[in-house]
Amino acid sequence: MAKPKVAFYWCASCGGCEEAIIDLNEDILKVAELVDIVFWPCAMDYKYQDVRNMKDGEITVAFINGAIRTDEQVEISRLLRQKSQIVVAFGACSHLGGIPGLANFWDRDTIFNSSYGSACPSVDNPENIIPQVISKVPEGELTLPKFHNTVKSLDQVVEVDYYLPGCSPAPYLTMKAIEKILSGDLPAKGTVLAPNKSLCDQCTRNDTKPEKLTIDKINRVSLVEVDPEKCFLAQGIICMGPVTRFGCSENDDGRCIKVNMPCRGCYGPPDGVKDTGAKMVAALASIMGLEDEENMKDNKISSLMDQIIDPAGTFYRFTLPVSMLRRKQGNDTEKREK
Ligand code: SF4
Ligand code: SF4
Repeated sequence: MAKPKVAFYWCASCGGCEEAIIDLNEDILKVAELVDIVFWPCAMDYKYQDVRNMKDGEITVAFINGAIRTDEQVEISRLLRQKSQIVVAFGACSHLGGIPGLANFWDRDTIFNSSYGSACPSVDNPENIIPQVISKVPEGELTLPKFHNTVKSLDQVVEVDYYLPGCSPAPYLTMKAIEKILSGDLPAKGTVLAPNKSLCDQCTRNDTKPEKLTIDKINRVSLVEVDPEKCFLAQGIICMGPVTRFGCSENDDGRCIKVNMPCRGCYGPPDGVKDTGAKMVAALASIMGLEDEENMKDNKISSLMDQIIDPAGTFYRFTLPVSMLRRKQGNDTEKREK
């Protein structure tokens, strides 16, 4: 009997999600036994034309990682959607926009200027040459994919069946997802393939939170001695655990908590949270002593808020493209691209 066909593809990402497949270790041999990998440009020499030559729906499942920011990524995501029965958004960038999505606080021109132009002190580019979609050279025409003004999650471009969250997805979750898909025992379309509870629910430090938690200082994890047993929030350190889905580790705690670092929120929110950043701001506000009139009088609250370095990057580190803010507003190019 023919084996199910599987494709892997990466869009705007760091490569960590490709590593996450390798991190299956010996389980990758089990996967290779069960399926035919028919497309994996990062690891095997397949061409886009190989996929174009397939019948629609011929691929059983395509795992697509990375956010979408170029024409090429849109084209290949659409192609894989057409050729696949199931599309899984693999990893935080594909699921939520991820770290590349923070670029939505700027626009294409600013990004090009900071990478290739005068805004980058180490760049020597007196003629201000920036990448062009078409460049004429003596040998002919060279083309590059168009770089979009706005970073998108995969489901803002094609229909997605399932989401495997995380930066990067934990190998045990990836293996479970593959087994589930191959068994045909599929959850409802749109399901995030990780437990639907918050990280705090499973965190062994949760019990160290006092019944009435109030903070009077925001601490940076790199500047204080962190108690390895105590809840980060109780130490005044921002931890996204209250608004982040559990699943990065198989049992308790999260991968970061285990190594004494606060959660940054890469698994995205549990079901029902519309805007992770707004939810975290509300969670923080609830422990800032807003009900105490003295605090309000002394301007203590705004001085506490001022202590949060990079609030946008803290609260929307992985979720800006799918948030209510979505991107920096008032940009004409963006309007044209919608
Ligand atoms: S806020 Fe962070 S450290 Fe505290 S219980 Fe939640 S996940 Fe654990
Ligand atoms: S603890 Fe938070 S940031 Fe760290 S891997 Fe888990 S979900 Fe991601």
